[in-house]
Amino acid sequence: MNPLLLFWVPAVLRLLLMVAGTSLVWFLFGRLLAGITAVLLLVAMLATQLFYLYRLAGWLDHPEVTRLPDGWGAWTGVFARLYRLRRDDEKNRAELTEWLARFRQAMTLLPDGVVIMDDVLFLEWCNPAAERHLGLDNERDKGMRVTNLLRNPDFIDYIVLGRYEEPLLLSVRSRKLIVQIIAFETRRQILVTHDVTESDRIDHMRRDFVANVSHELRTPLTVINGFLEIAASQPNLDPATRSAHLKLMTEQGLRMQNLVVDMLTLSRLESIDTPIRPERVAIAPLLERVLQDARALSAGKHEISLQADAPDVIGNSDELHSAFGNLVSNAVRYTPAGGVIRLQWQLQDGRPEFSVQDNGIGISAEHISRLTERFYRVDKSRSRETQGTGLGLAIVKHVLLRHHAVLAIDSHPGQGSRFAVRFPESAISKD
Ligand code: ADP
Repeated sequence: MNPLLLFWVPAVLRLLLMVAGTSLVWFLFGRLLAGITAVLLLVAMLATQLFYLYRLAGWLDHPEVTRLPDGWGAWTGVFARLYRLRRDDEKNRAELTEWLARFRQAMTLLPDGVVIMDDVLFLEWCNPAAERHLGLDNERDKGMRVTNLLRNPDFIDYIVLGRYEEPLLLSVRSRKLIVQIIAFETRRQILVTHDVTESDRIDHMRRDFVANVSHELRTPLTVINGFLEIAASQPNLDPATRSAHLKLMTEQGLRMQNLVVDMLTLSRLESIDTPIRPERVAIAPLLERVLQDARALSAGKHEISLQADAPDVIGNSDELHSAFGNLVSNAVRYTPAGGVIRLQWQLQDGRPEFSVQDNGIGISAEHISRLTERFYRVDKSRSRETQGTGLGLAIVKHVLLRHHAVLAIDSHPGQGSRFAVRFPESAISKD
């Protein structure tokens, strides 16, 4: 029923009842008693209203949602409606609190930094990513001016110029960040930070790689072009000079070919589209081939031995051949004639290990951590002299990554080196 009717009908009925009662008293006992009855009834009505007003005020001070205040007459409806409003309000508040908690949690998990500031850049709130990126502390720095907390000249210029439609690339605490300010509401701004350190590093590496490859190709190309020009301008060169030129051109051509082959190998190894196809790798014949290649490269200048006592492993035969071959060819190329090279395949603490030990030129400690970087060479001229592409150990590194194996290098200048490839125990073939 309409709540207005619920309210008014009993009220009017009660009034009619009072008038009827008073009229009856007048009729039976006279005017004086009727007057007294009317006054008493009005006082009682007023007292009732005051009593429920008092209860209403009390309930409004401590509105309990679990208990409905009871009333009389029209007050029952009033209390019921107030109670419903209060209950809906509680429900909305609970929903809002839950939503806010979810929003905060999402902000906490966000990899990008978010800083909320007022219109004059005083910090109101920031998420953990922003704390990490900018060195802020949400609790400690609240209410402080962000330009006082982040004293970076580029950032200050960005604020001064106010060209917020463009993001800013910022170096903060050895990170590269893309920073942008976005205005929201009328008096608030959001500072968003995105960490691009890793992609920037990869970009750098890519640029270095292209520069290195161009540099590596330029020398052999210059040599070949030079001889071609001589051949074109001097058709009657004597046969001895001509064959010397052809030999040098062939060498340079081979150098470029090796470089291209190594680059293709590296890019195939790095590609996530070519996952490893695991198979049982018959280690004995593989190492026998590696040994023969090493002896061919050494051309009898070194004493090379092989000892293989460990079981076969699961992996990719071609990739392991390439990795082991690179380590062995390095040992041959960086060991002077008369040196001794030992290849070993054995179990170390239950884990298969391939090691190449030489007594060659060795490497000083400061170079060791960088050896697997592309084109990193301790001695550039020696590497080129021995047809090195500078990519051998980078290939080894990638092959080992794909086999969950690690490379351990122990080397001392003038004494020799030991390169060991350690496989996990799980790599041992069970058949
Ligand atoms: P490169 O084609 O120049 O040999 P690598 O990536 O195979 O390139 O090796 C990187 C560098 O590590 C080499 O230039 C060389 O300086 C050093 N190196 C590698 N193996 C040995 C070794 N057995 N003895 C001494 N130096 C080595």
